[in-house]
Amino acid sequence: MLDGKAALVTGGSRGIGRAICLELAREGARVAVNFQSSAAAADEVVAEIEAGGGDAFALRGDVASANDAAAIVKATVDRFGALDVLVNNAGITRDGLLMRMSEDDWDAVHNTNLRGAFLVTKAAMRPMLRARGGRIINVTSVVGVIGNAGQANYAAAKAGLIGFTRAVAREVASRGITVNAVAPGFIQTDITAAMTEQQVAAVMGQVPLGRMAAANEVAPLVAFLASAGAGYITGQCIHVDGGMVMA
Ligand code: NAP
Repeated sequence: MLDGKAALVTGGSRGIGRAICLELAREGARVAVNFQSSAAAADEVVAEIEAGGGDAFALRGDVASANDAAAIVKATVDRFGALDVLVNNAGITRDGLLMRMSEDDWDAVHNTNLRGAFLVTKAAMRPMLRARGGRIINVTSVVGVIGNAGQANYAAAKAGLIGFTRAVAREVASRGITVNAVAPGFIQTDITAAMTEQQVAAVMGQVPLGRMAAANEVAPLVAFLASAGAGYITGQCIHVDGGMVMA
């Protein structure tokens, strides 16, 4: 489905990003596995892809830094000769009730989840425009659509990412570039491992399918959106949330 395509996945070392890297590689893409600090985890993803006969490399860089964002795009193009697929997946949470939320917690979450996607997408524009084609997939969250107590910073950043997706989708549609968002619900990763049993029980009450998902249940949708078969889909926000949002 993605034979020979060149992909960059931000935050590819762990969780959902890791599963996306493995899925894209399984479909034949060459994958740049970006990470911020987990070098060993990123190397493991690369090793797993190579063991399956694929092509990948690990790429350190903070998406919230304009220099790093430009550098990771450049390194991908230098290595693969193109950038066909960008997955803006890097994300963090810094939860807390609004009354106690610090400016640092607000800024940190916006810097990685929203500014990071802006910076990496901006850097990716040049190679994609030159190629007159590309696929951009932004990993947002159900929380950006329905909100969540204790996550005002994260919900705002993820809602912003959906607006960003739609604005850029309109801007670059005439150049053959599609831009879509994927909105996971509650997925078993390091982010959700911090939830208490009580919090998990409360969330499960909102999930019609009645369970959390595994990280590899988001990746197949991302691979499809990156493929030729999704060429007429742009500006969408597609939910992978066990039915939490039905619209
Ligand atoms: P995770 O397991 O904590 O992994 C986060 C990934 O992002 C790691 O690879 C991390 O790199 C990377 N990262 C963090 N800050 C970065 C930065 N400034 N620059 C580059 N990379 C950075 O998280 P996850 O649960 O898989 O979440 C992945 C995405 O899905 C996030 O955007 C998250 O908001 C979204 N999401 C998750 C859930 C869920 O239930 N888990 C639900 C909805 C949406 P290092 O390993 O180097 O730290």
